[in-house]
Amino acid sequence: GLSPPSPLSPELRLHDVFIAVKTTRTFHRSRLELLLDTWVSRTREQVTRSHLMVTNCSAEHSHPALSCKMAAEFDTFLASGLRWFCHVDDDNYVNPRALLRLLKTFPQTRDVYLGRPSLNRPIRASEPRPHNRTRQVQFWFATGGAGFCINRKLALKMAPWASGSRFVETSALIRLPDDCTVGYIVECKLRGHLQPSPLFHSHLETLQLLGAAQLPEQVTLSYGVFEGKLNVIKLQGPFSPEEDPSRFRSLHCLLYPDTPWCPLMAR
Ligand code: UDP
Ligand code: MN
Repeated sequence: GLSPPSPLSPELRLHDVFIAVKTTRTFHRSRLELLLDTWVSRTREQVTRSHLMVTNCSAEHSHPALSCKMAAEFDTFLASGLRWFCHVDDDNYVNPRALLRLLKTFPQTRDVYLGRPSLNRPIRASEPRPHNRTRQVQFWFATGGAGFCINRKLALKMAPWASGSRFVETSALIRLPDDCTVGYIVECKLRGHLQPSPLFHSHLETLQLLGAAQLPEQVTLSYGVFEGKLNVIKLQGPFSPEEDPSRFRSLHCLLYPDTPWCPLMAR
């Protein structure tokens, strides 16, 4: 009993989705080039509209610096007028088709915060209250390193805690990183809920466990070093692990065999 799409909310297309990739100067060569060659080439318009946005955020791996970047992503999304905000790191592969398929399953009338829960239980934080008191709060949050998405309806409600300088202030208040701060705003301030999805992946999980047949269905993938070992998806060719240590080029040829640099055998 699916009703026809209402003229007020036409079917979601990829250019209704804003995808922000967090990066830093030292990773432009080592990480960003790989993304530009692979999935970004299929989403040009979506990835901060193919613009590189240089923030005034300090180039370090500190909570305030990373929250400053999340704030810039969030504000740019609000200004864009697009329907979905998705954040990823520069070591994520985004499968645009799988992303669209997933986002289409949510009605625009709902508030949606979608991603992979970072922990198997809610995180606790202390929220400062007036008169030097604190309140213990708990909430779920999506791992930033696996990517997450928020629809416009929810993002607009988040603005009082997340727009302009307020995101960094909120993050400082609970003394937690940017991805936790998003969860805090959604769950503690707005009484919303993280909608868990197993289709988002970070390099904090054992990526080799994903079967080859499952790979094309995943919304995000990642690569990195975990417990001293290279943690990557398991995929036969077309490129060798030496040529393609992240496996992103091989995956991209599997998904888009018509890519000019993919070997003919893969087409
Ligand atoms: N990052 C950043 N500034 C830094 C270090 C990292 O913006 O000084 C970004 C990086 O580009 C990536 C994310 O933060 O998008 C996570 O960094 P990384 O993958 O190196 O660390 P992880 O948290 O996954 O161990
Ligand atoms: Mn990472």
